Amino acid sequence: MKNTKENNSAVKKLEEKLTFEFKTAWDPANQENLDSIQAFAEDYKTALDRGKTERGFINYSVSLLEDNDFKPLDTFTELNAGDRVYQVVRSKGLLAAIIGENDPLEGFNLIGSHVDSPRLDLKPNPLYEASDLALLKTHYYGGIKKYHWVAQPLAMHGVMIKKGGEKVEITIGEDESDPVLYITDLLPHLAADQMKKDASKVVEGEELNILVGGIPYPDEDAKNRVKLAVLNLLYEKYGVTEREFITAELEIVPANKARDVGLDRSFLGAYGQDDRVCAYTSLRALLDLNEVPKRTALVLMYDKEEIGSGGNTGASSFLYPYYQQQIVRLMMDHEPTALELSHNMVNSTMLSSDVTNAFDPTFASVSEPQNSCYAGRGMALNKYTGARGKGGTSDASAEYFDEVVRLLEDNNISWQTGELGKVDQGGGGTVAVYQAELGLEVIDCGVPLLSMHSCFEVSSKVDVYETYRGYRVFFENMRKDRV
Ligand code: MN
Ligand code: MN
Repeated sequence: MKNTKENNSAVKKLEEKLTFEFKTAWDPANQENLDSIQAFAEDYKTALDRGKTERGFINYSVSLLEDNDFKPLDTFTELNAGDRVYQVVRSKGLLAAIIGENDPLEGFNLIGSHVDSPRLDLKPNPLYEASDLALLKTHYYGGIKKYHWVAQPLAMHGVMIKKGGEKVEITIGEDESDPVLYITDLLPHLAADQMKKDASKVVEGEELNILVGGIPYPDEDAKNRVKLAVLNLLYEKYGVTEREFITAELEIVPANKARDVGLDRSFLGAYGQDDRVCAYTSLRALLDLNEVPKRTALVLMYDKEEIGSGGNTGASSFLYPYYQQQIVRLMMDHEPTALELSHNMVNSTMLSSDVTNAFDPTFASVSEPQNSCYAGRGMALNKYTGARGKGGTSDASAEYFDEVVRLLEDNNISWQTGELGKVDQGGGGTVAVYQAELGLEVIDCGVPLLSMHSCFEVSSKVDVYETYRGYRVFFENMRKDRV
């Protein structure tokens, strides 16, 4: 065939008709929208800085909910269209809903994410003195590269319960005037042996010890004077003793604040975007709904995802369906039967909302470029996650995947899809399996991150914004005409 101009345009048309590829979400329309994207990112940065632990993020979410006229579930004797309700799950999880017009037995629209992030927890008996230094022993939580955590400013958040039961909230290292905490690393001059080790052993679990003090208690008769001085400081400030560490929950997180990244400020860097990016975008989508939805819109925030979703605040806990049942009950004019409660659950539709890996050209070999998510191409949808032949995934159906994609495309939301790495390179699971067990329709989706599970994870602001817009569309329109 001659390569004439006419032929060229015919081929172009055929290509356009038959082929498909994902493109950047920074299209002209979104660049015109830059002010909205940047403004959304500023609010998101505030949420990240205010909510660096699961407890912290739930507290911040409750403050936003109350500012927007949401009320605790136990203040309602019935629930009607337009009512705004929330329920905290044992200080570490959350449900929040706007009651819709439709019969609850037709199902709700749910978006679920997790608010715990990889971190270091203090051991039950953490404090010791060695070589005139006071230190705290830690036990890491979730999947970390341990060498990330040394030689950088750290903060401590959590609760201690005083003798007699009074709870004390502790935050050290976040205020500019606070001291920070710190884990030492070995100087390169003496690291010849260390540098020969596997990266997984360069810094080991028992070496993640937090430096907290160096001034000895003045009385020379005391033993372990530096440790005693630290205990004295804690007692004066919080009224706690060494015994109270045993029952405490104290978490060590990076002391950094969320920042813009890149000369063009296209990215946002912060600790804990996995998965507070999805928690925040889904919560904002709920808060920003202009009209009463047809189907009840329900946001769920889980704890414990990073260690397998167990525990009574994790996604496999009965407490989440239990509170959903309480909402259904208050919407009905009679005591619902067990079968009616099941109708609500199996007829619900869900987005299981978590981060995924963004293709990184610096580490291209671990990903398959044709089936990867990219920073800047919009909201990510994943039919399945898992590892070793899709082990541990819910694997959404073609029908439901298509239904969600059509919803997004009808509303001009930029979306993309991809797998987390090459086949057999590794992989990971999400909470979607636990939701799928309840029988409802669910698909994985969320925001691609660079440097996921590091102390400073990076998202593209347009992906955050498009995900927020996608979640709004889901709450507003998903199955709204199906009664
Ligand atoms: Mn996650
Ligand atoms: Mn994670």
